[in-house]
Amino acid sequence: MRSDEIIRVTDAFGARNYLPLPVVLERGEGVWVWDVEGNKYMDMLSSYSALNQGHRHKDIIDATKKQLDRLTLTSRAFYNDKLGEFQKKVCELTKMEKMLPMNTGAEAVETAIKAVRKWGYLRKFKMQNAKCKMNNAEIIVCENNFHGRTTTIVGFSSESQYKFGFGPFAPGFKMIPYNNSSALKNAITDNTVGFLVEPIQGEGGIIIPEPGYLRECKKICEQNNVLFIADEIQTGLGRTGRMFACEWEDVKPDMYILGKALGGGIYPVSCIACNSEIMDVFTPGDHGSTFGGNPLAAVVGIASLDVIINLNLPKRAEEMGNYFLEDLKKIKSDYIKEVRGRGLLIGIEVKKEKGTARPICERLAKEGVLAKETHEQVVRFAPPLTIEKEEIDWALERIKKVFGL
Ligand SMILES: *Cc1c(COP(=O)(O)O)cnc(C)c1O
Repeated sequence: MRSDEIIRVTDAFGARNYLPLPVVLERGEGVWVWDVEGNKYMDMLSSYSALNQGHRHKDIIDATKKQLDRLTLTSRAFYNDKLGEFQKKVCELTKMEKMLPMNTGAEAVETAIKAVRKWGYLRKFKMQNAKCKMNNAEIIVCENNFHGRTTTIVGFSSESQYKFGFGPFAPGFKMIPYNNSSALKNAITDNTVGFLVEPIQGEGGIIIPEPGYLRECKKICEQNNVLFIADEIQTGLGRTGRMFACEWEDVKPDMYILGKALGGGIYPVSCIACNSEIMDVFTPGDHGSTFGGNPLAAVVGIASLDVIINLNLPKRAEEMGNYFLEDLKKIKSDYIKEVRGRGLLIGIEVKKEKGTARPICERLAKEGVLAKETHEQVVRFAPPLTIEKEEIDWALERIKKVFGL
């Protein structure tokens, strides 16, 4: 079938909750994808950083195939022989004592919210002589956040479209400006149990906070016995040039939320990781997921982390990211307001008077570079971290052409 026919059928029978670029992909390898007409593109989105290891990395594919022939799903009603190893690996990487596996990012964020609230009721509020009644726990979040699409999560979004028509929303969240640590200090009350933050706002338009922000926030959290919860679903696992973006400020959060690249571009795998003091608030029956922690997911997770560790992808992201960013900054174009990024999470902000980023992404696609606009004005470049210098050069040539209009 040709592209236009596939697009017609997809749109005819599907919900219109996305507005994809008109490219129909059928094959992928490394940083490259091919459409049904045989045209080749570079994937500069990496499925929102779920493909840090590139398309179909051989080690992950091999491990997955092997596991497909053994055992795939058990539910957590029984033990399986792979989950323990996966948990241990995540704990070693995050330097946390425990992890809890889920599937999608949003589910992991929901899991974090449950864990942090219950920690508040069982631990924090108890220490304060139970001054705070049950069901009063507050979690502080930031404006311009993106943590997923469940009703609870969109309820504390500042993006009106994410919320419109989907209320009523869960209470218990307080919004403060991002990149403003005094706002955090002022927002904390006796009821505050956690501060949920992205070390870099990805969907929000690649917003990098001032140096020191995360460290200051962590200090404020410590002083007030509030948990610092880092949503590293997009920024974690090498993307920004460190294993976790919090490492840029030597911050160790009380809890990591991971997803996306944890599934190696194959399968949804997410988790939270934290110390026992928090994780042990969960008792049998408190929380669960039919698919979370299944043996196939565990094997995919292990292989995905092994590739990131063995190829030292954080370092590659830093080196290639610096190279890419420097050259992007050299582009002289009336369209560009700012080029910013860290590691291989890079955004070009388009001047408002020149229109939105969407037509630029469409032109880039025609040139063979797949990128997606985020927040109207920003073109995001986030290729697989396995990208080679020559491949960046290939992309730069085309990006320059499009911006040099
Ligand atoms: C993508 C993303 C999520 C949601 O993950 P899903 O797997 O799409 O549910 C949450 N937080 C951040 C920072 C993300 O980038």
